[in-house]
Amino acid sequence: MFVGADVKTVVAEHRVQGVLPLTIFTKIIDGKIPADIVYEDEYCLAFRDVNPQAPTHVLLIPRKPVESLDQLTPEDSALMGHLMMTVPEIARQQGVSGEYRTIINTGEKGGQTVFHLHIHILAGRALTWPPG
Ligand code: 5GP
Repeated sequence: MFVGADVKTVVAEHRVQGVLPLTIFTKIIDGKIPADIVYEDEYCLAFRDVNPQAPTHVLLIPRKPVESLDQLTPEDSALMGHLMMTVPEIARQQGVSGEYRTIINTGEKGGQTVFHLHIHILAGRALTWPPG
């Protein structure tokens, strides 16, 4: 499975191919810009959203720079499984176990603004449905 140490190689390869726009999240992974990190391991990183939409609003991202759900390949299965298994762990750590919403926006019309796959974890208020 892709580990954090591989990120520089992947980013360098993509840079050469000119296909991967580096995002603000890559800079957070690289420690080039600050973030309020609440969880990290060798595969992923979670930090507070800079513009929180709920009392708890955490973004969970893979260290691997995948643009969105649409760019996943079969080799990402274990990584995605790990991300999903990490969500309840973060919820527990944030004191919102069993009471939260997860969102993955995909593409511009799906509301995605940062093109590095991320899972929003929102909690701490009543969340309405349908979303906007
Ligand atoms: P999207 O709209 O792509 O699903 O979500 C991107 C999220 O990233 C937004 O909720 C936005 O507030 C957050 N965000 C954008 N730039 C930064 C940043 O520099 N730091 C942090 N912590 N969050 C950011």
